[in-house]
Amino acid sequence: MSNGFDPFEASLIVAHDMSHAYDAVVPPIVQTSLFTFTDYDDMVASYRGEKIRPMYTRGLNPTVRIFEEMLAKLEGAEDAIGFASGMSAISSTVLSFVEPGDRIVAVKHLYPDAFRLFGTFFKRMGIDVTYVDGRDEEEVARALPGAKFLYLESPTSWVMQTHDVAALAALAKTHGIICAIDNSWASPVFQQPISLGVDLVIHSASKYLGGHSDVVAGVVAGSKDLIGRIRSEAYPYLGGKLSPFDAWLLIRGMRTLPIRMKAHEQSTVEIAKRLQAHDAVEAVCYPGLANQLAPGLKGTSGLFSFIFKDGVNVRTFSDHLELFKLGVSWGGHESLIVPGEVVLSQKAQPNSAVAFGISPRSVRLHVGLEGTEALWSDIEAAITAATVG
Ligand SMILES: *Cc1c(COP(=O)(O)O)cnc(C)c1O
Repeated sequence: MSNGFDPFEASLIVAHDMSHAYDAVVPPIVQTSLFTFTDYDDMVASYRGEKIRPMYTRGLNPTVRIFEEMLAKLEGAEDAIGFASGMSAISSTVLSFVEPGDRIVAVKHLYPDAFRLFGTFFKRMGIDVTYVDGRDEEEVARALPGAKFLYLESPTSWVMQTHDVAALAALAKTHGIICAIDNSWASPVFQQPISLGVDLVIHSASKYLGGHSDVVAGVVAGSKDLIGRIRSEAYPYLGGKLSPFDAWLLIRGMRTLPIRMKAHEQSTVEIAKRLQAHDAVEAVCYPGLANQLAPGLKGTSGLFSFIFKDGVNVRTFSDHLELFKLGVSWGGHESLIVPGEVVLSQKAQPNSAVAFGISPRSVRLHVGLEGTEALWSDIEAAITAATVG
């Protein structure tokens, strides 16, 4: 697997295998752990890397490959690799480029489990992380000399802070540092970081790419060289492979990605505007509002947070909602709410309000596909019920 794997050659395999697919418009789920060889010579050629073909699903699987090619195309990348989860994509990607003694520069308010990965495993491995305010290009520039990796997320989790991704990627380039971004929030429909100069684009495919809340998966896209490096070691040896069935669900989900993203955007912009104008609301954190638009972002998705003024009981508000269900994750068809004070009560370490920027009077909403007016009525009624005095 590590001997001369060429991800581009792998695309030929998909084309070849599709000839066995009964002309089905939907690709088959190649649900197999291994692939047999026609004879001894065929096996030798495959082992020597003279012939790139699926041997074992931990290395290469045709259904997974179709998903990878679709995502690479959407991101304008040369290649992509699917993973068992977004976290698997994050850990395998970063570990392909850093080693003990190296330093990562990362923006503040990262996705909490990425932050915890850096603060636990990476710390124990002697990998240091410097956190910077991604809005402050001078601070980022000061942190970069001597670092090995720049890790971005824009908008950030919860507080939805946006950054000038092209400017940060350019800074990384001047220092010869590899730059990766978590693009789960915008999806390739609204932000294509490769075109902004970023080297590696990571997704939790569990969110918008899947879009139906029925799969946990991840993916990273980038140049043939960088993806080849991840594919040669971290992918086979850490073993966080994407399953053929999950890849099939993602292929299905991605067919409607652009129209789903537009529907999420339309409802969310409207709801965020109405919340911003509401007497009970202190502030709305949503890059889709006129005063919060970001360079490089072509549209905005369905996840945002807002802060209640005193006088609204957040517990009553959450319990009164009918369409918005209390639940983690996001990116599916359904609307969801997470109250900030519940996240802050979590025991997992390291964890702090400072690290994530979460205010106890804030809630995070995911606006699903149920319809703007029905969702707004739900929110309005819950605010009325939760307003004290
Ligand atoms: C959910 C999420 C992840 C982690 O993805 P999993 O598929 O749950 O492992 C990473 N980044 C962001 C921004 C996320 O929301």
